[in-house]
Amino acid sequence: MITRDIQVKTRARNELIDITPQVEKVVEESGIAEGICVVVVPHTTAAVTINENADPSVKADIITKLGELVPAGDRYLHLEGNADAHIKAALVGTSESILVRGGKLALGTWQGVFFCEFDGPRKRQVWVRVM
Ligand code: ZN
Repeated sequence: MITRDIQVKTRARNELIDITPQVEKVVEESGIAEGICVVVVPHTTAAVTINENADPSVKADIITKLGELVPAGDRYLHLEGNADAHIKAALVGTSESILVRGGKLALGTWQGVFFCEFDGPRKRQVWVRVM
């Protein structure tokens, strides 16, 4: 079992970043052929999801639609000004479990692992454990 921290530098308030290569690197480093890779985002205004990494407009659509569902300027009790980011993080979720098969992440053909920034730009962390 190994655990590694991945650093992610985000550049926009809302942004999806493909971190599949960094996660795959941890799997390779682990030397584990058959197991599970857990990806955890330890933040309250960011998340992780698995989705299509072929057409970049999917990322844009996800950001746009989440913005419509959870508007930034709505009336919220949380006074820090980032209530929308907390809600988006709650909807998307803070961890993913991915099978490891044949020493590689077992993702579908069009799937990638995306770090989801909802209150950037910031320096973020992703915790990856392969076991
Ligand atoms: Zn807040």
